[in-house]
Amino acid sequence: MILSQRSLRNGFQQRDKKNVGIHEFIHLLDMTDGQTDGIPQVIMQQPIIIPWIKLMQKEIKKIQDGDSTIRDYGATNEAEFFSVVSEYFFGQPRQLKKKHPELYRILNKLYGGSH
Ligand SMILES: [Zn+2]
Repeated sequence: MILSQRSLRNGFQQRDKKNVGIHEFIHLLDMTDGQTDGIPQVIMQQPIIIPWIKLMQKEIKKIQDGDSTIRDYGATNEAEFFSVVSEYFFGQPRQLKKKHPELYRILNKLYGGSH
């Protein structure tokens, strides 16, 4: 994992939807089960996996249709989607909750409900 100090610092200074440190960390988390696929099986248990995959597909479609507050890069694939929405969750939890309540609910559950 290669990160510039500057982009790391910027990410944590501006509390917005973009944070390269969180982004890359989430990829590492996603990767620990052997597949970087947007499904972090170390923290995601079985009953939630199918609804999560369906929700990812639905939200990716909305990004592609230009009908989402999630940044476009999230539509690249499921792994990027998971990192991008996690940045959003940690950076602007209230906006995420308002604009994408279903997504917020699952991420909040996943990350221990600190918001
Ligand atoms: Zn990425």
